[in-house]
Amino acid sequence: MSTAIPLRCRCGAVQGTVREVSPSTCCNVVCYCRDCLTFARYLGEDGIVDAHGGTPIVQFAPAQVEITAGFDRLRSLRLSPKGLLRWYTDCCRTPMGNMVSAKVPFVGIPRVCLPGTTDAVFGPSVGVNARSRVGGVPEGAHAGAPVGLLLRISRLMFGWWIRGKGRPSPFFDPQTGAPRVAPHVLPLEERRRLEAG
Ligand SMILES: [Zn+2]
Ligand SMILES: [Zn+2]
Repeated sequence: MSTAIPLRCRCGAVQGTVREVSPSTCCNVVCYCRDCLTFARYLGEDGIVDAHGGTPIVQFAPAQVEITAGFDRLRSLRLSPKGLLRWYTDCCRTPMGNMVSAKVPFVGIPRVCLPGTTDAVFGPSVGVNARSRVGGVPEGAHAGAPVGLLLRISRLMFGWWIRGKGRPSPFFDPQTGAPRVAPHVLPLEERRRLEAG
């Protein structure tokens, strides 16, 4: 059985919904990669990362996700010129979604903007990309991504692509296909400073 869950930034200015949520329609991870931690630091880590510096994220098809209020508060950041588009809000600096581009039918929604949800809704979470983490791999987390998880996300993405679930995307203009806000590219020296903690 699937359900709809609220999506909101921490202050509530940006609101939306994620539809058709069930363990079979999404992929639940905690990402320990350096870039996710750098992004969390850019926003102010508190409440975004877990005790080991990992970012809990649920991966959905863009068409499952709708934003209904607060578009003017959305901002986007790339950690490098070709990095992921990382969306956040400028009202309360809540991360709202990570995407490759409008063409890739995939969005990673940080758990901080899915308040009150538990793993029961999304299925058990898998710790990934702990290789670059300072201080070693947290218990139960994988250095990279396990093959089973890669197959699962590939299968989900293929299904989303076949069914046209890449659109509409909450972060791209439905008419022009352009990002709702042009991304800011983080200057290299600021990135290095954030990486150093
Ligand atoms: Zn807010
Ligand atoms: Zn990551």
